[in-house]
Amino acid sequence: MTIVDFPTTTSGIQGMAPGQQALDAARFQLAEAVRFLGLDDGLHRMLATPRRSLTVSVPVRREDGRMEVVQGYRVQHNLSRGPAKGGIRFHPDTDLAEVTALAMWMTWKCALVGIPYGGAKGGVAVDPATLTSRELERMTRRYANEIQPLIGPEKDIPAPDVGTDEQTMAWIMDTYSVNAGYSVPGVVTGKPTTLGGSLGRAGATSRGVQIAALAALGSADGRTVAVQGFGKVGALAAQYLADAGCRVVAVSDASGAIYSERLDVADVRAWASANGGVPGYPHADTIAHDELLELDVDVLVPAALEGVLTGANAHRVKARLIVEGANGPTTPEADLILADQGATIVPDILANAGGVIVSYLEWVQNTQAYSWSAHEVEIKLRDLMEGAFREVNTLAADRGLTLREAAHAIGVGRVAEAHRLRGLYP
Ligand code: NAD
Repeated sequence: MTIVDFPTTTSGIQGMAPGQQALDAARFQLAEAVRFLGLDDGLHRMLATPRRSLTVSVPVRREDGRMEVVQGYRVQHNLSRGPAKGGIRFHPDTDLAEVTALAMWMTWKCALVGIPYGGAKGGVAVDPATLTSRELERMTRRYANEIQPLIGPEKDIPAPDVGTDEQTMAWIMDTYSVNAGYSVPGVVTGKPTTLGGSLGRAGATSRGVQIAALAALGSADGRTVAVQGFGKVGALAAQYLADAGCRVVAVSDASGAIYSERLDVADVRAWASANGGVPGYPHADTIAHDELLELDVDVLVPAALEGVLTGANAHRVKARLIVEGANGPTTPEADLILADQGATIVPDILANAGGVIVSYLEWVQNTQAYSWSAHEVEIKLRDLMEGAFREVNTLAADRGLTLREAAHAIGVGRVAEAHRLRGLYP
């Protein structure tokens, strides 16, 4: 019985729907790791398919009284190492295939950095910018209610992702808690600190990107950086890299891209939050979206969406180091081309793991009803990020692998080992 296709080459990935393209990329990376590790076909099938996928219809009452229905998803990819963990995305293009790919990457990421979670992801196919704040709250609460059978502090713990934030997590925590009859702060991470959120969580993914970039660069001094995506991850990644001594020359968001010899990142952040985006920032030139990806810079940080570095543009990418703030920004074709060009890619499951690391620390604090200082959180984050980077780098050097291949070999290997030790029920 064939239940999934296992893409073993990179052909055919171009031209697919973005979600399917991401899922094929994730399965391609898994197949490479399975081959490297010598895992059997049955285990490969198990790892290539999610344990549980839930599709929900979310009715939303608009301000004018109309009711609309949007599609929502929650996918638990793997539970062998602990409860499922993963963000919730609100984006019009999200679909089941994309959420499944993102859940799979979460499984390897948690295993790679050694935190006791499986992988999950959620999404609602909606553009949050088209909803009023009250509509957004109603939709979020109804979605939380629909996925409530799957989530819980010991089962599956959501967090913010594209289009969601601390407020979204507060609404989900409240909805879950009201249904439970008592406060359950550990059901989500990335909450406001007043509700049990961890100090350091808001900037954790970006701090991790900075740590990974500096580990790969050696020295930050004057290295030029371009960052695609100026949201929760990209804006602070740009800030932290500038703080470390890099020269940030270009940033972009969905509405445009800007370039200057040296951007004052704090000033761009203030401008973007006051004006709804980076376009129009007065001390920089406007450039095309795609141009940013092809700038002659030392470091490129894709921190927006999947599939932006592809077979079509990878030949023109000049960055020597690519640090994946986003999940899945590089297709397998682009990976091969970039490796041939001598570029180093710090893969998503390593580079952006800072977010789930501090989410884990938040959950640990919640389960103990205790909170740590920002300094304690940062030390633990740094320790886990640097440890994971060293392990990946060493395996890559010893076995002649790319950093992505090494990261997947470690992550997939740990999940496979958990399955071996637990055995198969019944
Ligand atoms: P966000 O919604 O806060 O920001 C996304 C940014 O990308 C926005 O600035 C948006 O305008 C921009 N964008 C969208 N399309 C673009 C395009 N075509 N060109 C340029 N910019 C574009 O989301 P986020 O939380 O910062 O997530 C960004 C990426 O990081 C996603 O891939 C997400 O899965 C990944 N990630 C996020 C976290 C986290 O803690 N938030 C953790 C790990 C990985």
